[in-house]
Amino acid sequence: MTAPAQPLVPSYTSGISDIPLLGDTIGDNLDRTAGARPDAEALVDRARGERYTWAQFVAEVDALALGLLDLGVAVGDRVGIWAPNCAPWTLLQYATAKIGAILVNINPSYRTHELAFVLDQAGISLLVAARSFKTSDYAAMIEEVRPERAALQRVVIIDSDEWTALFHRDGDVARVREVSATLTPDDPINIQYTSGTTGFPKGATLSHHNILNNGFFVGQLIGYTEADRVCIPVPFYHCFGMVMGNLACTSSGATMVIPAPGFDPTLTLDAVAAERCTSLYGVPTMFIAELGLENFESYDLTSLRTGIMAGSPCPIEVMKQVVERMGMSEVAISYGMTETSPVSTQTRVDDSLDRRVSTVGRTMPHLESKIVDPETGRTVPRGTPGELCTRGYSVMLGYWEQPEKTAEVIDRARWMHTGDLGVMDDEGYINITGRIKDMVIRGGENIYPREIEEFLYTHPDIVDAQVIGVPDERYGEELMAWVRLRSGAEPLTPEALREFATGRLAHYKIPRYVHVVDDFPMTVTGKVRKVQMREEAVELLGLAQSPTA
Ligand code: AMP
Repeated sequence: MTAPAQPLVPSYTSGISDIPLLGDTIGDNLDRTAGARPDAEALVDRARGERYTWAQFVAEVDALALGLLDLGVAVGDRVGIWAPNCAPWTLLQYATAKIGAILVNINPSYRTHELAFVLDQAGISLLVAARSFKTSDYAAMIEEVRPERAALQRVVIIDSDEWTALFHRDGDVARVREVSATLTPDDPINIQYTSGTTGFPKGATLSHHNILNNGFFVGQLIGYTEADRVCIPVPFYHCFGMVMGNLACTSSGATMVIPAPGFDPTLTLDAVAAERCTSLYGVPTMFIAELGLENFESYDLTSLRTGIMAGSPCPIEVMKQVVERMGMSEVAISYGMTETSPVSTQTRVDDSLDRRVSTVGRTMPHLESKIVDPETGRTVPRGTPGELCTRGYSVMLGYWEQPEKTAEVIDRARWMHTGDLGVMDDEGYINITGRIKDMVIRGGENIYPREIEEFLYTHPDIVDAQVIGVPDERYGEELMAWVRLRSGAEPLTPEALREFATGRLAHYKIPRYVHVVDDFPMTVTGKVRKVQMREEAVELLGLAQSPTA
């Protein structure tokens, strides 16, 4: 008798762990951490020259929370924060969490149109903002939109007299505790407008339970203890900064180090060296900028042990350099999105080096992943690409006041459909192969730009590469590579690239067009704006599509 056929193994995994989920609110968790090590360092803000021990940090958070209560801020009120990274941002994050006000992160690169949208959509009653940063005059932009915003009752500019007066240091902290005691971990506590590389911004609404646990497990997987000092050059307005950075630290006792208000490669490495940081975060382009500094070799980075690269596809070559040249031997790659708090998968420190530089790791503890056929919704077998879905404690409560939009991405069984394409191997490691919308179809052949970008990194003159599809009469779409070259390199022509790629890459995957640039159009979180690149490319190549009937 022949053995019955074995069914194929489905692309499904659940993350197991000996460590249970935390059942605290963010405020209680902070108090627990601070109570255990009051004199250790909690926060360093290099630009402001400020340092806080855990005892000082909690005292300031409580003083601010009391000031907010005295201002009339109530549980569930929306408090906006519009500022680059700074200690006041972090203080406000925890002060609002303690009194149950919902913090609304506002992207520091927004202009008036976007600000007005967020103020209205979230119904922000108190807005805390920096006065200005680089080309952004926040105070002036707020004054411009304020007259038409009835819901916005108060604006406080950081470092103004009004801001200073908000810290009620001699007040009765018991009042903060009374309010804290009424909160539950499943209450909404944060709204983040997804970065909008595609589509209209929507306010992902996250609970204490969502983001506290995600920050905690991100830190656990890279072994955070109070001996760690984490350099956070990624923006606080995004989960990478305020969850994987701040909450990972406050839930594990590690120190938060803010190297600068906005990303600057020199100030980042200065901070790592001067503060003896053990961990460094960044999106790939940040690491590329740091590794490319002329005086890179002069930095003492020997304190670095770990860190995280995330936010967009992480080039294998760059990961290898982070390990070899920065000494981040335990660096991890995380994959996720705002709607899932954000991290869904992460590499583990004991994964093989190959797995740690070439996959986004495995499912996070207590979460589930599956890969489905986007057409049928059925789970595909291991090794077959499809749409990655995430389920578990990290999935957002929903998009703020947009139940229909929520229902489009979270299904009846509570799976979040990410819109990312991935493939899961036999051991549960996941690779992100592209976005559903990021796929280029050339003459019927599906091309995943990610694959071409990885290939381009192997060219000795290319330091960074982005690949897009541009309209083409014959094939529907053609590939175009935007590349940044190493300084002093000869300009790269399409012919030279073809010669380099021929024989190593299928012919249809060799970009027809090459465009050499100094920088790519980016969002603040370091995501390349491919939509904008496509628009510019159409102009540049004179490809404007002819009108159709
Ligand atoms: P955001 O909501 O701004 O965090 O953007 C989330 C999106 O960034 C995801 O849906 C992915 O497309 C992309 N992303 C994040 N991390 C990674 C990663 N490690 N590899 C590939 N893509 C990523």
